[in-house]
Amino acid sequence: MTRHGVVRRSALLLGAGTLVLAVSCGKSGSPTETSTAPTPSVPVAANVTVPGSATFATMTRRGHVVIGVKDDQPGLGYKDATTGEYSGFDIDIARLISAQLGFDPKSIEYKPVPSASREQAIKNGDVDYYVGTYTINDKRKQQVSFAGPYFVAGQDLLVRKDDNTITGPDTLKGKKVCSVTGSTPIQYVQSHQLTEPQNIVQYQKYSDCVTALEQNSVDVVTTDDAILKGYAAQEPDKLKVVGKPFTQEPYGVGLAHDDAALRGKIDDILQAALADGTWQRFYDETLGRSGATTSKPTVQRY
Ligand code: GLU
Repeated sequence: MTRHGVVRRSALLLGAGTLVLAVSCGKSGSPTETSTAPTPSVPVAANVTVPGSATFATMTRRGHVVIGVKDDQPGLGYKDATTGEYSGFDIDIARLISAQLGFDPKSIEYKPVPSASREQAIKNGDVDYYVGTYTINDKRKQQVSFAGPYFVAGQDLLVRKDDNTITGPDTLKGKKVCSVTGSTPIQYVQSHQLTEPQNIVQYQKYSDCVTALEQNSVDVVTTDDAILKGYAAQEPDKLKVVGKPFTQEPYGVGLAHDDAALRGKIDDILQAALADGTWQRFYDETLGRSGATTSKPTVQRY
């Protein structure tokens, strides 16, 4: 992962102004604190109750929130290896939920969990909730529950800048296609037989696919456009996104299957953020910068 210099990535993401802010406001002894620099601060709610939520009871006993995230997806869920700070749209959403549940985002414990392990991590109670490009679908709903959606992405293709042979999903035959184990994009590649089985390469993390693409050991990386645009924004001279999304990937906050009380509470939080401009501010400062487009989703309660 050193190939994608973390310092360079975070500098690009934060922009010069916020970098100055991060330095001048940095407090020692609180590793996640400066990571809030690019994030508009959100007030921590007082006297919150979520009657009937077993997860909320656990958080309250523990005194802080444990959130499952991605750590290698610039603009969404990204950990700066130098500072340890997390940033991105998913992280902003995660922090907002924590604050609205009454837990100071400074005390969040972030747990990176790869795509293939999300359901298990939630079922085990390893995380209180998960915010990390997690597509809501019926199969996953059998094991976990989803608040949201809070964003709608679409599966797309990332290629080397000089590659004009890959223009859509029907141009992948004979190409080495990389994606992540347990993700909806890898399932789409397999079920639609977009390439031959021996040409499908799977890793645990998308950043490993991007490294393989840059080293010419695969020809294309496929996953959500929002994720791919974050990588392309880091290496605009080397990488490009084809830009014709061919699926719909509504992102939800994953949580325990039977915790309808917490799901309803998080739906309320997301709905308010969509209505009052908070969602838009988060988007403008993260995904908006890498050119990821989306229409504002409507929270679906089920
Ligand atoms: N949104 C897709 C999924 O949930 C792809 C991104 C990911 O692996 O997190 O499978």
